[in-house]
Amino acid sequence: MKRIGVLTSGGDAPGMNAAIRAVVRCGVSHGLDIVGIRRGYCGILEEDFVKLGNRSVANTIHRGGTILETARCEEMKTEEGLRKANENLQREGLEGLVTIGGDGTLRGATKLAEAGNVKVISVPSTIDNDVYGTDYTIGFDTAINTALDAIDKIRDTAGSLQRPFFIEVMGRSRGFIALEVGIAGGAEDILIPEVETKIEQLSLDIKRCFERGKRSSIVIVAEGDDAGGALSIAHQVWERLKMEYRICVLGHVQRGGSPTARDRVLASKLGAAAVDALVRGMSGYMVGELKGEKAFTPLRETWEKRKELDADLLRLVKVLSG
Ligand code: ATP
Repeated sequence: MKRIGVLTSGGDAPGMNAAIRAVVRCGVSHGLDIVGIRRGYCGILEEDFVKLGNRSVANTIHRGGTILETARCEEMKTEEGLRKANENLQREGLEGLVTIGGDGTLRGATKLAEAGNVKVISVPSTIDNDVYGTDYTIGFDTAINTALDAIDKIRDTAGSLQRPFFIEVMGRSRGFIALEVGIAGGAEDILIPEVETKIEQLSLDIKRCFERGKRSSIVIVAEGDDAGGALSIAHQVWERLKMEYRICVLGHVQRGGSPTARDRVLASKLGAAAVDALVRGMSGYMVGELKGEKAFTPLRETWEKRKELDADLLRLVKVLSG
């Protein structure tokens, strides 16, 4: 193998730059030419290629976002788009490709790998952590720490005002962010799409929480919760308790910022492992980490199979809200 490409796609996540850096530097150490593909799969279709060397990725490990930029590319989902992508990759002389992104990116990577014109290894990176085959995705740790920082600050003011606070966090249709942030932030309740939200019970919990003498009640709401977002849920509770409340939707701050040490290390390990795998002739796998060990999962499984939430953590929510 002489020449490989690297792209970031879908939602950006802190740590993507550290992964690109690892791909480039590990590739160079193997004597490969590295081509950066700008704006995800759009860059393949528009032949937006840039040669990368060790200096191109200097001073990037600590930066959020992605130096290659990212995009959502609908054309890639079509037969015609896939055909064009394969053609352009071949014309550019790319024998291998590392994709960095979430489950949509992994679906695109699966199609490219199955077409067989180029060898593909993927690296999981999304703040949502909703990818099967890895305990953690790159960006998740930074996102939960950013959310936690905000929640700690809100707790100070919530305690002074003695009002329930409903804090909405990201995570799309899954509750990984909400669960970890809720446990780490000492939330009284955590509402996630995986567990049905019962407004009656929630209202009772909040009422009892103040009756027990607690000075604040923090409810973490996953954006994909079945009962609606924080705004709708807070209003439904108000209809029952008539208790003044506050809402905070954390939104895109969770996507930004400098990656944590954990995300940088994970990104460095997985980026390098992806290149090593290509050099060994592997294709059609995602490299993740399970129980601290590198793990290769067939690309199709990463989005066909469902990653489960940590059941122990779920059980702890009620016990620890005291
Ligand atoms: P995040 O979870 O952070 O949003 P993601 O990788 O899941 O990241 P998506 O927007 O779902 O983000 O997907 C990224 C891109 O992957 C899409 O814009 C599209 O180009 C490609 N993609 C998604 N689904 C498919 C599919 N079924 N076939 C081919 N390509 C796809």
